Order: sequence, then C-alpha cells, then structure tokens
Amino acid sequence: MAENPKIRTPIVCVMGHVDHGKTSLLDRIRGSSVVSSEAGAITQHIGATIVPIEAIRTMSGSMGKVPINIPGLLFIDTPGHHAFTTLRARGGALADMAILVVDINQGFQPQTIEALQILRNCKTPFVIAATKIDRIHGWRVNENESFISSFNKQNERVKGDVENKTYEIVGKLSELDFSADRFDRVADFQRNLAIVPLSAHTGEGIPDLLLIMIGLAQRYMSDELKLLVEGPGAGTVLEVKEERGLGTTLDVILYDGTLAVGDEIAVATQVDVVVTKVRSLLKPRPMQEILTEDRFERVKSVAAAAGIKVTAPNLEGVIAGSPFFVIRGNRDEVTEKIKREMTEIHVNLAEEGIVIKADTIGALEALCKELESKEIGVMRAEVGPVSRLDLVETETIKNPAFRVLLSFNTPLLPDAAEIIKDPLYTQVKVFEGKVIYQLIDQYVEWRDEQKRLMEKQRFEHVVMPAKIRLLPDCVFRQSNPAVVGVRVLGGKLRSDVNLIKLDGKKVGHLKTMQLRQESIREADEGLEVAISIEGATVGRQVSVGDDLFVDIPERHVKVLEKEMLKTLNTSTQEVLAEFTAMRRKTDPFWGK
Ligand code: GDP
Repeated sequence: MAENPKIRTPIVCVMGHVDHGKTSLLDRIRGSSVVSSEAGAITQHIGATIVPIEAIRTMSGSMGKVPINIPGLLFIDTPGHHAFTTLRARGGALADMAILVVDINQGFQPQTIEALQILRNCKTPFVIAATKIDRIHGWRVNENESFISSFNKQNERVKGDVENKTYEIVGKLSELDFSADRFDRVADFQRNLAIVPLSAHTGEGIPDLLLIMIGLAQRYMSDELKLLVEGPGAGTVLEVKEERGLGTTLDVILYDGTLAVGDEIAVATQVDVVVTKVRSLLKPRPMQEILTEDRFERVKSVAAAAGIKVTAPNLEGVIAGSPFFVIRGNRDEVTEKIKREMTEIHVNLAEEGIVIKADTIGALEALCKELESKEIGVMRAEVGPVSRLDLVETETIKNPAFRVLLSFNTPLLPDAAEIIKDPLYTQVKVFEGKVIYQLIDQYVEWRDEQKRLMEKQRFEHVVMPAKIRLLPDCVFRQSNPAVVGVRVLGGKLRSDVNLIKLDGKKVGHLKTMQLRQESIREADEGLEVAISIEGATVGRQVSVGDDLFVDIPERHVKVLEKEMLKTLNTSTQEVLAEFTAMRRKTDPFWGK
C-alpha cells in the first residue's frame, strides 16, 4: 500500500450568513446521496455525509466524464464557521475545503465577510454557492439540471438578472481582494474563486457545485489527501453525546488512518488527556431499517475519512473539538501531542498588544490572524470566559491604546462584568462580539478616536504663534503688573505665555487678557484687548508702539511645524515663519 497511497475523501464544511441556505444546501446534497443508494453506493455516517463519486457522476450525467480518483466528498453536517473553527486537525482547520453560501438576492452580509476572512487565514480552498436562484423573478425551474443548461432555457431578462447579481458578488469579492468569476468562466481555479449559482430547493446547479469541488480537490490538494489507510487513526471530536444504553459517546470525524474496536485511543478533557480502549464503533442505520432494529449498526473498523460514533469507558469530560488519536505503542508521544494541540496557538504573540479571549482555540486563531493582518499586536490570547483576573492583568499594560480586551463568543464572568461597570476600578476597555471583523472594527474605531482625543489634548498645550502691538494711550498701569492695550497683528494670542521683542529680548509674562472687561483665553488677529504683563515696566522693557512676539519654546515649534502646520490659518503660519526666521538668524537649525 505504501508505494501506492490511497486518496482519502476530502472533508468539506459549509459556511455563510444565517438564513442564506446552508442547511437547505446540505439537506439537498444529503438527499442526493441517499438517492444514489439505489446504485449501492450509500454510506451512512455520524455527523457527516459522504457523497460518493458514483452519486456525483450519476447527477452530473455527461459532465461527469473527467477521470476522477477522489472517492467522494465528506460534508460535515453542522454548517457555520463555529464548526469550522472548532474542528481542528494538525493545528489547522479540519475541513480541507469549504462552500461559502451567499444568497444571490441578498448578497454579502456580515457573516459572509467573516467566513471569507477565516477561509483566507486558514488558506482553505473554497467555492461560492450563490443560492436561491429559483427566487429570481421569472425563473423557470428545471429540476436538478446543471446550471448552464437551466440558465440557457431562461428568457433574456432573467439571464440579465442572474448576470447582474453574479457581478455584484464578483465586485464585493474584488473589494476584499479576491478575484472571482462565474465557474464556467474560470480558467485557473487556483487563482480565481468560482461562483456557482444554484438552488437548494430545485437542485439546479448542484451537480456543477459538486463537480467543481471534486476538480479543486483533485487538482490542487492531492498531496494533502494522500493517505496510508493502514496508519493509526487520527481525527477530531465533533460532539460528545449521552446515548441511551451506551453512556457517553464520541462522534468523531476520522481524517486519517484506521480505527478498530479494541484500539487504544487518546482524547482531551478540559484538564487532561484520557487514554481508553474502543468498545464499539457505530454507524447510523439507513432510515428504513431503524424501525425494526437498533438505531446503530456496529462495525469492526473504519478508514478515513469517516464520521463514526465511538463508545469506550471514561469518556466523561471529553470536549468537542478535541484531537482524537489511535495509540500504537507511542502513548507518551500521543498524549504530548494532544496537550500541545489543546494549548498551542499557532499565531505570533507580540511584545506589545491587546488581550483576546475566545471560546475555542480555532476561533482564537482566526481572530488573532485577522488582527495580525491589520497590524494589531496581540500580547495574550486565551480560551475561556473573561474573568476578573484577565482584567487585572490587562490593566497592567502600559500603553492605553492596548489596555483592551476583545472577547469573542465567550461570556464575561459575573465578577468581571461587575468591575467593568466601574471606571474607578478598571480602565480596561472590553469589546464583546460574535462576528470577528465587527469586533475588530469596534476596537479600531475606538482606538482611532482615542488617538484623535490625545492629539487634540496635546495640541491644546502647544504655545501658539502671535504678534501684537502696544497701542498708544492705552497704558492702564505702568508695572506690577503692567496693564496695556494691544492689537493682535497676526496669529492667535493666548494668555499665560511669555512675550519677547522682535529681536528676541525678554519682556515679561502675559498673565491675563480682557475684552470689554471680560476675561478671555484667546484672541484672534485684528482684536484689540487689554493684557497684564508680569515682570515688565512700561517705558523700560516695553514702550508704546512696540511690536512683540509670543515666545514659543523650541519643542513646541517642532510640533507646530511638523504636525500642526496644516491646521493653522495663514496669518498664524506667517507669524510662525517670522518668529522662526528671527530665531534661526543665530542658529539655522533652531527648532528643526
Ligand atoms: P441557514 O440558516 O443558512 O442554514 O439557512 P436555511 O437553509 O435554514 O434557509 C433559510 C431559508 O431560506 C429557509 O426558509 C429555506 O427554505 C430558504 N431557502 C434556502 N435555500 C433556498 C433556495 O435555494 N431557494 C429558495 N427559494 N429558498 C431557499
């Protein structure tokens, strides 16, 4: 067997926005595999449906003449990206391929984009199923036909409608950097995404979808799908179920090798690894036999890919999503591997960054990778609910922009929920969400707003350029402090600044400012105001008719010139230029 490895059945997961038709599509595909039972090809599985290649050939008629060496497709029965991210294998997604369902009439929705991002991050090949074409106004149904054949029988208006709606999807995908086209126009399936318009209700387009999936798998994935069916079984726990008369059972998707009754297996619980012996392997019985016999059929062994129910002692506490391995004399190695898989996150943690929590490792990875692609560092990433301790630890992050916890699909424990209500208790900003990209968008929006606020605060403290002239007949007080009338010649005059002469000589400190007996903080060009100057005596440091500058510290000049220049009006820019020219007479690099 080793010289001629078999190709195993690729595992397929269906994803997409709620109500776009994932379940209906799976049901339709399942239905077609049952129909093929007449050809003796039926394969019953737990948690998954195998569509054997014979069924696909029968459905696709003349289209199915391409040589095929893939045994069929195994569809995981639970649709959605939660299943996709929970089910992991070899540190990545369990599913080898995916179908992303988009309602052709509704187009892209939040979870469509989310699924796209997850698939991109996992590098999972996929096809877009543009569903519900039978809802397009005027569509004439041709039950179970291939898309092209049914499409050609539609009138011009309906055809145009299908084209437009397909192009809308192409456009949306292109905004997200995916190049896509209707499947029959795709020449290179590795570069371009195929869109298959179809209906789960009428079956139109479903043969095309299955053929495209087979083509993709066989052309681009055959290396990953090579398999030694004699190797020890490897799989993922899909569900942990109590079954009447059987106790705790595991529904397992076996993706590699074989599994037999009596095999020693290892799986993970929340806290540890359990090693136990397979008591029985169960498959569901075909519908018509259930009435007369036991619900399950016992088998001695199975080979990948397969969905199987496993009974064994000590399965209580095993968790869904756990790796599942058959032990063949390598118990320590296997238990180590499981421990690693359960805790190891395949992402890069940053020195400086935010904290994230999610319900599963897969979800955590998906979130992490998406943040990474947006150049947002993650310092800590953990599975589980958000606890008070998480907040306390996040609180110690120095940079306030990172003092943030993103909680994806996981609850806040009561003690944590209690303290985030009180800003005196914790400054940590917590964002919760069930859609990855919306969660990230919320954070980015908040972070940018914080940045703007901080910038604004910093700019408010910058000394603004201004030039003033002491007006004649307006000396209200000679000294201690001097109180004089001035005109703002240019710039923005604020109180609490130092005044200097045009040659740089010190004058005094402008303490307060009044306009018609009212205190003011700021005066623009052209205004005449009374100011008090501490440390100056009229007739000594200053005289009526003198022009003065506001003295701007060197580091403020840097901020003004480098960061704020665009926000200053022309007159302020001119005063700044005059002021710096004076300073740079003696030191050309002053303030640079
Ligand atoms: P899910 O939430 O993505 O699993 O969506 P469902 O499969 O439950 O479908 C949501 C609704 O759309 C149901 O009422 C389905 O009957 C309907 N639906 C799904 N696929 C089609 C289709 O191809 N044509 C039409 N006309 N309705 C569909």
